[in-house]
Amino acid sequence: SPILVWFRRDLRLTDHPALYAAAQTGRPVIPVFIHDDLVEGLAAAPKWRLGLGIGCFADALRDKSSQLVLRKGDALEVLQELITQTGAGSVYWSRLYDPETTARDRRVKDALKNQGVEARSFGGHLMFEPWTVETKTGGYYKVYTPFWNSVKNRAVDAPLAAPATLTTPAQWPDSDDLADWNLGAAMRRGADVVRPFVQLGEKAAQSRLGAFMAHGVAEYKANRDLPGVDGTSNLSENLSLGEISPHQCWHAGQRALHDGKKGAETFLKELVWREFAYHLMHHTPRLLDQNWREEWAGFPWNEDERCAEVKAWKQGRTGEPFVDAAMRELYVTGRMHNRGRMIVASYLTKHLMCHWRIGQKWFEDCLIDWDPASNAMGWQWAAGSGPDATPYFRVFNPATQLDKFDKNRDYTSRWIAEGRAKAHPDALAFFEAIPKHWNMSPDDDYPDRIIALDAGRLRALDAYKNRNF
Ligand code: FAD
Repeated sequence: SPILVWFRRDLRLTDHPALYAAAQTGRPVIPVFIHDDLVEGLAAAPKWRLGLGIGCFADALRDKSSQLVLRKGDALEVLQELITQTGAGSVYWSRLYDPETTARDRRVKDALKNQGVEARSFGGHLMFEPWTVETKTGGYYKVYTPFWNSVKNRAVDAPLAAPATLTTPAQWPDSDDLADWNLGAAMRRGADVVRPFVQLGEKAAQSRLGAFMAHGVAEYKANRDLPGVDGTSNLSENLSLGEISPHQCWHAGQRALHDGKKGAETFLKELVWREFAYHLMHHTPRLLDQNWREEWAGFPWNEDERCAEVKAWKQGRTGEPFVDAAMRELYVTGRMHNRGRMIVASYLTKHLMCHWRIGQKWFEDCLIDWDPASNAMGWQWAAGSGPDATPYFRVFNPATQLDKFDKNRDYTSRWIAEGRAKAHPDALAFFEAIPKHWNMSPDDDYPDRIIALDAGRLRALDAYKNRNF
């Protein structure tokens, strides 16, 4: 009988344990993607990017003489319907780890097993399953460095090849038309503006990894902090949808290290930050939507996301060039350099004293590399409410950060057009992407600071001193 392989955030053919196992059986394989409530609930940019990813993956399957069957509805009902229609005896998928998906998958697995269908979940999204990494006393890790120490010498599965062939079913079940799902509908900003920055699909991800290993990784340690230099792998976009596996990145990094490229160790460590985020989300799902340090619930955050400060922050007009450049980069490219993410998050939660959830939500809306675990961990790290976080009293100064990490102003001049006779095309693209009612033009004067850095810092430190925990 056929095997249904249910794809979710694992849009690749190589190093895909579930697909590999299905192909090994020699039975017909029916790849399926289901548009259910969890897909419906995605924010604008991740949903749009998912739509592109699905289209590209469907093409890759067609090259293998296979197909991606698209269906909309409750995941269990869709699978049951497909089982009836195709006579499938098994459903395989790759595990995910956020609480909503885990609950859905458990329900699906139990129901399918009860009706005598083989339901198997596989790894692939992570190198280290969150429950397999334990402290000496059997707990989970709350601090990164010991987590790193405990996994760094572990054997990571070698990447699997793509199945040479996929046996096709006697008859393909009907499929929806991807265009009818309209996954880009919620993109407020011009999708055409973001599209040139997307590197779509498994082949592009492999080229990205190859190029980074050839040209970027050796100097990664020094360059990764400089937003004006293309010094990082940019793989987060592809890792987010599983267009590449962390294992493939890890083994490439290990080979580079072996070849004497020193920056590779830092790269491996960053991959493990992603694993750490998942470890935390698995063990403490409150990471996603509540202060991880529960006492922070009493902190006097401003929670009004419509206030003028939040508006200026989102629109990249705080008058703080590093912050504004990064927010505009986000809006245009759907990504933001890690240094920028740290600075804008610190600025929002400290200088502006706004709740980290406001920033988390805006990032979720805008990022094409949105990852539930890394985004939540990043925000709680910056705000001081998270595990292994930067302390609240350590307030990044965006002006001194600029002198340190964007000395020649390569980054800020790429993203800020106001006051420049010859603005960079990317800085101008921002004005094409934004809605009219933002009422911004490249011919405007660059805005004054909405808050003096000292005043903002002192206000935040006062609130922290007077906190009731
Ligand atoms: P590289 O520097 O090439 O690193 C390689 C890979 O390691 C990345 O692709 C990523 O998978 C992982 N990685 C690197 N840094 C981190 C980190 N700090 N935490 C977790 N994993 C990391 N990353 C996302 O993938 N999605 C998000 O939604 C996201 N939101 C963030 C929000 C905030 C406030 C902060 C401070 C960080 C966030 N990050 C997020 C982490 C980090 O900024 C990005 O992973 C990184 O900028 C991606 O660029 P890259 O692929 O070139 O990374």
